[in-house]
Amino acid sequence: MATETMVKPVTEYEVVIGLEIHAELLTDAKVWCGCSTKFGAEPNTQVCPVCMGLPGTLPVLNREAVAYAIKAGLALNCSIAPEARFDRKHYFYPDLPKAYQITQNDHPLCRRGYVEFELGGETRRVGIHHIHLEEEAGKLMHAGDRLMEAEYSLIDYNRAGIPLIEIVTEPDIRSPEEARVFLENLKSILEYTRVSDCRMEQGSLRVDANISLRPKGSTKFGNKAEIKNLNSFRAVQRALEYEVRRQTEILQRGEEVAAETRHWDETKGVTVAMRTKDEEDDYRYSPEPDIPPFEVDPAWVERLRAQLPELPREKQQRFVEQYELPAYDAGVLTADAKVADFFEACVAAYGKPKIVSNWLMGEFLRLLREDGAEVQDVPLTPEGLAELLTLVDRGVISGSIGKEVFEDMFRTGKSAAAIVKERGLEQISDEGELAAVVDQVIAENEDAAAKVRAGEMKTIGFLVGQVMQKTRGKANPKLVNELLRARLVQE
Ligand SMILES: [Zn+2]
Repeated sequence: MATETMVKPVTEYEVVIGLEIHAELLTDAKVWCGCSTKFGAEPNTQVCPVCMGLPGTLPVLNREAVAYAIKAGLALNCSIAPEARFDRKHYFYPDLPKAYQITQNDHPLCRRGYVEFELGGETRRVGIHHIHLEEEAGKLMHAGDRLMEAEYSLIDYNRAGIPLIEIVTEPDIRSPEEARVFLENLKSILEYTRVSDCRMEQGSLRVDANISLRPKGSTKFGNKAEIKNLNSFRAVQRALEYEVRRQTEILQRGEEVAAETRHWDETKGVTVAMRTKDEEDDYRYSPEPDIPPFEVDPAWVERLRAQLPELPREKQQRFVEQYELPAYDAGVLTADAKVADFFEACVAAYGKPKIVSNWLMGEFLRLLREDGAEVQDVPLTPEGLAELLTLVDRGVISGSIGKEVFEDMFRTGKSAAAIVKERGLEQISDEGELAAVVDQVIAENEDAAAKVRAGEMKTIGFLVGQVMQKTRGKANPKLVNELLRARLVQE
C-alpha cells in the first residue's frame, strides 16, 4: 500500500509595493497666508488668523507653492494639469484647526511621471501616479510621549499651513530594497530641485508604504497593509522586510491577509495592526469654495522647466564622460548635489578626478557620516584639499599621514601645511636618517631578513612596515624599500 504524503503547495509570491511620500515645500511663506515656514521657532510664534483657522478668514493661494509643486512634477517627468483645483478633506483632530484640510482630491496638479534608477545592475522605472498639493497640519505633543497615557497634549500651529506635496507612486516596486533605493533617488531629485530639504528627522519628508503579496504570475492584487510611522529609509526597508515575512506566513497557512493600517515599531522591529480599512474615516471630500480654480499657464510651466537644474542621473552621466570616472563613483558623488559641487571644485583646483573621487568617497563621506554633518557645515574647502593632495604628490607627507591631516582639516579648517608643521609630520626622505632605522630593523628581525635574502620577496613588506612604525609613519616608503633591497637582495 502506498503511503500518501501531504505535500504543501509551495507558492512563490511576488511583492507589490507602492509608496506615498509627503514632502514639505521650501517656500518662505505658508500656502494660504504670509506666515514664515522656518523650522525650529518657539511654538505658536509663526501663526495668524488664517493658519489658525479662525472663522471669517480667507485663504489666498501662494503662487510660489504651486511653482514648487510643478517643479517637483517636472523633475519627476509628470504632466502638469492645466488647472489647479482644491478640495476640503474633513477630519476632526486638533492638529487641524479648521477641522478640514485643504488638499487636491481628484484634480492633482501633476500626473503620470516616473523615476529611473539602477538596482542590481539593471535600470528600474517606478511610475508616479500623481502629485498633489495640500497644507500641513499642526504638531501635537503629548505629555509623557504616549497618546493613550498622556494627561494632556500641546499643539504647535507653526507647521499648520506649510505647503506640502504628496507623491503617490504606482505599485511598481518589487522588493523592500528597491523601495529604499527608489526613496534615495527621489530624495536626491527633490533636493537637487530645491523644492524640499527632505529632512526626515525634522519631519519635512515622511513616507507611508503599501505592501501586498500575490502568487507569481498573478495580475490580481492581494489585500494590502499600509505601514505608518516610518522615520528613515532604513526603517522603510526593515518594516517592508518584516511585512514580506508576515504576509508570506499568513498566505502559506491558507489564510487571508487583512487589509489594514499598521504601525512600525522601530524598537521591537515589528509592525502592529492599528485599524482595519472599514474603520477608516469618511473624509467627505467637497470642492474648496474659498479658493477658486487656478489656471496654470503653459508658458509659466515652460519657464519653470527651464529653471530645473541638471538632475542626478544627468550629472552622473556627465561625471562618467567628463571626468572618466567609473559609473559607481559618479553615482556616489552625485547622490548629494553639494558633494558633487565640492568634487567639481576640487578637480578645478587640483585636477586628477579619480584621485579626488577616492578621497571624497573614502575619507570625506566617512567623516560626514561619523559627524552627522552636511557638506556646507564642514570647514574644509576644495582648495584646502587640493593643497593637501599636492603635499602628498610632492612627497612632503605620505598618503597615510595625509589621511590624518585630512581629518584635522575636515574638522578645523586649518591648512594642510600648518597642520604638517605644527605636528611635525613631514616625511623623512633623508637617506642617512632612514638608513640608520633600516639597519636597526634588519638587526631586530633576523628571521625576516634571512627570508628576504633567500628570495622570499613578500617578506620585504613586513620590514617596510617595521620601519614605518619606528618613524610613526613618516618614512618615505619608496626610499625605505630601496634601502632594504640594497642591503638584502643580490642584484
Ligand atoms: Zn498664517
